[in-house]
Amino acid sequence: MIDHVNAGLHRQVPQVKGQIKLRQASQKGYLGSVRFFKQLIVGVVLVMLVVPWITMAGVYSRVKSESSQAEDRLVGALMRQQEALQQELEGYRDENRLLLQELDKARSLYDFESPYSQLHPELRVAGPQEYIDKNKVIYLTFDDGPGVNTRAVLKILSKYNIKATFFVVGYTIDGREELLRQIVEEGHTIGLHSYSHVYKDIYSSIEAFLDDFAKVSNKVEAATGVKPDIFRFPGGSVNSFNEGWGNTIISEMLSRGYRYYDWNIGSSDVAADATTSSIYNAVINQARNHPYGVVLLHDGGGSKARTVEALPLIIEQLLSEGYSFDKMTNQVRPTVFATGGYNRG
Ligand SMILES: [Zn+2]
Repeated sequence: MIDHVNAGLHRQVPQVKGQIKLRQASQKGYLGSVRFFKQLIVGVVLVMLVVPWITMAGVYSRVKSESSQAEDRLVGALMRQQEALQQELEGYRDENRLLLQELDKARSLYDFESPYSQLHPELRVAGPQEYIDKNKVIYLTFDDGPGVNTRAVLKILSKYNIKATFFVVGYTIDGREELLRQIVEEGHTIGLHSYSHVYKDIYSSIEAFLDDFAKVSNKVEAATGVKPDIFRFPGGSVNSFNEGWGNTIISEMLSRGYRYYDWNIGSSDVAADATTSSIYNAVINQARNHPYGVVLLHDGGGSKARTVEALPLIIEQLLSEGYSFDKMTNQVRPTVFATGGYNRG
């Protein structure tokens, strides 16, 4: 029995040995086999696909961490900057608070009650909101009327379709109310130039000035319905009679909203030796020196026939030189004398 088994085993041994040899042979064949190369190609392809991904992932995570560090630095810097700006802003707010306090103090000083506010409280007008500057404009102004030449002057202005300004005096209005109305109806401006035109009376005190001013203002308003808001000082704002009260009067009138106008082109038409050509030459020569001209002429205070003769010549010459003419309003920047030198207006 045992022998039989042994014999069986011995028969099987060569069989197993044969199988091992076969396997070894097939393994040797795999290295060069088609299967091997297939798997090799697949493997290489996989490696080629995976390696860049791994590399990219590495680069990506490095870049990401670097950029997030940079981002952190930037955010930090911005926050510090914001803090600095915040502090600066607080500084400005403090400064602003101090300035506002200063402004309040200044206002309380400024808002004083004028000691003359009880005198003729009706003498108050709305001042200009702004000044409108114009170039190459001539403002013809006629003082001391209404007078014997007012009608002739109006006729010339109408002929050339030009607007002008009349600084009227009160004492000469009676019987000439119609002329005042014509001035207004034809679109010119009426300004005030005192009631009496007597320097020593008008400038003797602020009360005297306001009394006189109220008188002419009321008279013009009664005749025309217009309450003038501009005026011209008799003799101009700087004269030998108003050294005492001049500045007080100016302050009071400005605070009441009135604006006053001196002139920058004198025609000297009131001079005893004035001629048509002297008036014409004076105006034309001076007009070229100013961006805008305020011309002093007269339509009252005696016969001013030479003024009437010179007027069309002046208008035609200045028109030909490109000037235009306009009436004054309180939005014309005041032309005022800055220093002494006595004038006659
Ligand atoms: Zn005058």
